[in-house]
Amino acid sequence: MDHLEEIRARIGIEELVGSYVQLKKAGRNLKGLCPFHNEKSPSFIVSPDKGIAYCFGCHQGGDIFKFTQLVENVNFPEALKILAQKTGVKLPEHAPLVANQRLKTIEINQWATQFYQEKLEANPPMKNYFLDRGLTDETIRKFKLGYAPDSFDQLKNFLAGKNFDKKDLIEAAVVSQRSIADQNTYDRFRNRLMFPIFDHQDNPVGFSGRIVGQGEPKYINSPETPAYSKSLILYGLNWAKESVKAKDMAIFMEGYMDVIAAHQAGTTNAMATCGTALTPQQLKLIQRYTKNVCFCFDGDSAGKDATFRAIELAQLSEVNIQVIMVPEGKDPDECIKKNPAAWQKAVENPISVMDFYFDFALSHFDSKSIQGKRQIMDFLMPVIKTAKSEVEQNIHLNRLALELKTDTKLLWNDLRAMKGKKIAVQETSATGPKGREQFSQEEYLLGFVFSHPEIYPEVAKGLIENIPLDPNTERFYKACKTVYTRESFIDLAHIKEELSEEDRGRVEVLGLLVDEEYPDFSEETRNREIRKLIRAINLRNLTGIHKEYQYKIRLSQDPEQTKVLLNRLKETSELMQGI
Ligand SMILES: [Zn+2]
Repeated sequence: MDHLEEIRARIGIEELVGSYVQLKKAGRNLKGLCPFHNEKSPSFIVSPDKGIAYCFGCHQGGDIFKFTQLVENVNFPEALKILAQKTGVKLPEHAPLVANQRLKTIEINQWATQFYQEKLEANPPMKNYFLDRGLTDETIRKFKLGYAPDSFDQLKNFLAGKNFDKKDLIEAAVVSQRSIADQNTYDRFRNRLMFPIFDHQDNPVGFSGRIVGQGEPKYINSPETPAYSKSLILYGLNWAKESVKAKDMAIFMEGYMDVIAAHQAGTTNAMATCGTALTPQQLKLIQRYTKNVCFCFDGDSAGKDATFRAIELAQLSEVNIQVIMVPEGKDPDECIKKNPAAWQKAVENPISVMDFYFDFALSHFDSKSIQGKRQIMDFLMPVIKTAKSEVEQNIHLNRLALELKTDTKLLWNDLRAMKGKKIAVQETSATGPKGREQFSQEEYLLGFVFSHPEIYPEVAKGLIENIPLDPNTERFYKACKTVYTRESFIDLAHIKEELSEEDRGRVEVLGLLVDEEYPDFSEETRNREIRKLIRAINLRNLTGIHKEYQYKIRLSQDPEQTKVLLNRLKETSELMQGI
């Protein structure tokens, strides 16, 4: 990987980005208009120190290689070639021709897909897993579902028989290598149900393997390869594109099984992001087929969160957005199986974004109490503020006034008095849904840890253990804990070793976030901010647990269980008072 380092040494991120975007100095960093979404005030930050460029509006960016991939819309090897040319670095001669490597990867994936399909047919218990979940034979064939046998070398040997080089199999990521020192390779997917992932032109570009039965990790996915860029792929688009055009509408879901079940039930314009949040590139891709998108994520709180994030991102582009509320059951797959008629009705009657926000606010907060009214207003007013015209704002304010039993005029006063900008860290948002903020408090706190690792012990001591943190950040906190327990201090390089490729980029981004939001903080102000965050996170998490216990107590039929729950409720209350 010497040539990568050489390229890095020859071109700084600011120089590279500067050739695409006009940049202005802003403290230690530089700022410009984001090349990935339309904006009027700059939220695209370039950090020469960290070697990354990142947009806090649409959440896109990365180092020089990632940036080139995104801005030129190419895969990694092609970006490498572009940068080698720019910097005059000679790539090693054995570096494969880019187009060929992509095609080779696709060809390998084609064989692997066929191999997994045959193994599924030969293993009825595995096939039953799909049949039991309501999929027909025809659906299993259409989506080319398969099974990776419980073996380290069956696929490897099968592909060796097709005369592929070991090197190409590693590039395609169907086999893995233990380390540089240990040259032996083995099958990446073992004893897993296989979902091949296709690009919109019907090429198999990667795989997702689901564990058989229970266990972790539930899914293993192909990493980025010469054929597979996750942020560019929409799972299911190859089967959906004609239907998307005909219905002039694209439905975005969360999981592979959701998409497959939806197609089987006749909702043939459904697709999913591949285990990542929605990206601007995916939104660009879908606009080739339609301007109308509908989000249909799981009904649980993570799904709601994903919906808020997707809406915020989509509002930056020119698509029309609606939301499908999944009736009954947690996810679309479940609902389709249990009640196809209800599913059909939901698909035919998507709701507006504003309805979705109203629905969320009114079902989460108590519109009868003063505190609840305040929470509903805190949540809805900023959204209403973004409505395009005063006429529209008036419609929403009338509705809100009706729900809160107050006067529209008073709400207008409040709306006019509101400032445009969101406050990054709000203590009052303790019980608020975090999807409304671009970054969660847990993420801000991590940002502080990553930009000032010496504060970690205080953070570790401050956070109450064994209560659920923002699920998107759990992995990072775990990595910090592992490294700190082992080495008694936090070394970012070691933290990154504990994380996946994608999460590693996140470490830099969160560090940059804190640099940007708190540019000239004194140590004292910084520490105060950190304490504030810890307190808010603890309080929010405890409030959630407290509510959960109250809810369970209300439902409990068993006096013994109620007693246990009441004790826990009391403990939680005491903890909350201690904060
Ligand atoms: Zn952007």
